[in-house]
Amino acid sequence: MNFKKQRKNMVRTQIKARGITDKKVLKAFENVKRHLFVPESKRLQAYADRPLAIGSGQTISQPYIVALMVSLLNLGESDNVLEIGTGSGYQTAILCKLAKKVYSIERYESLAKSARKNLEKTKLSNYEIKVADGTLGWPENKNMKFDAIIVSAAANQIPKTFKEQLAMGGRLVIPVGSRFSQNLIRLTKKKDGFEEENFGGCVFVPLIGKHSW
Ligand code: SAH
Repeated sequence: MNFKKQRKNMVRTQIKARGITDKKVLKAFENVKRHLFVPESKRLQAYADRPLAIGSGQTISQPYIVALMVSLLNLGESDNVLEIGTGSGYQTAILCKLAKKVYSIERYESLAKSARKNLEKTKLSNYEIKVADGTLGWPENKNMKFDAIIVSAAANQIPKTFKEQLAMGGRLVIPVGSRFSQNLIRLTKKKDGFEEENFGGCVFVPLIGKHSW
């Protein structure tokens, strides 16, 4: 199976064709081996245009949705990123390519364990994964500020923790809505408050924790 070719096709037909043009983002998607982040039995579907089950009732998001969310973060090389919902670790790997450090939280021990295993197969090392309720923010230091926060599960409202943990100029990308349909929201922290933008409908697994469902 020529995974490299499949990856190039994925970038061209699923991501670029839908309007994502940031060269660094496209390069990250060409370089991260998505087939290493899906269960063995699903390797052949790794580059398909849809989410895939990864165990514990959770999914690895559709490639385009990951690309859209990551590009909305406008990451720079010196940025620290908080990721809620490590899942397979695939998006963690993409973020590692674009930012300084990725702090990732997953509520299932089993998924965090396999994400760490998946990430060990890459040459990346600028990440930390914790098992905790991500709606409470980074467990080690509640006062830590992040340049970007990305939430890969659907919230019923925007948890205040995330607003508090954004640095000035920081961006939060989060699906917000009902259990079965949400809108992709970007909040940018500005001197005079938060700018809110809506990037349309999406469907995510629920964000389960103190400040959500
Ligand atoms: N970005 C992931 C997609 C994961 S799906 C990937 O590329 O594979 C969303 C994940 O969020 C699930 O693994 C789920 O267990 C996790 N999750 C849900 N609520 C959470 C919470 N409060 N804190 C941390 N993780 C949570």
